[in-house]
Amino acid sequence: MSASTIRKHHGVFHWKGVDVLVYKQEGTAPFKDVTRQVLFDGTDMPCELRYFEVAPGGFTTLERHEHVHNVMVIRGSGRCVIGDEVHALAVNDLVRVPPMTWHQFRAGDAEPLGFLCMVPAHRDRPQLPDVQEHVALGKLLEP
Ligand code: MN
Repeated sequence: MSASTIRKHHGVFHWKGVDVLVYKQEGTAPFKDVTRQVLFDGTDMPCELRYFEVAPGGFTTLERHEHVHNVMVIRGSGRCVIGDEVHALAVNDLVRVPPMTWHQFRAGDAEPLGFLCMVPAHRDRPQLPDVQEHVALGKLLEP
């Protein structure tokens, strides 16, 4: 990250000097239509703040890990799976994902879901569900 103190909001949920990245850069974890922007990269604080945007119909990887996510929705609406619960999400909602808890964020069909996500700068790699777990968790999302 540059030394700049201020990076101006520029466009719609974009910031000057902040790259829009693919959500995952490695592996084969399933996800659909998600971008990632690193707003604060943990250089001088042991956490990172990222902005994720899930396009309509898209979803993040269903995963779990030891590190916690602290999330604030700032655009659109959608749903999240946290453990064995599904929650509707709207702007300004806060979500804490506890350690080793399955989680996934999904946009609805009409608008994107954009959220800030704070994580520790040093964190463990996500685990993916096996087939049985995936089926059980998938049932939660059926209408
Ligand atoms: Mn995660």
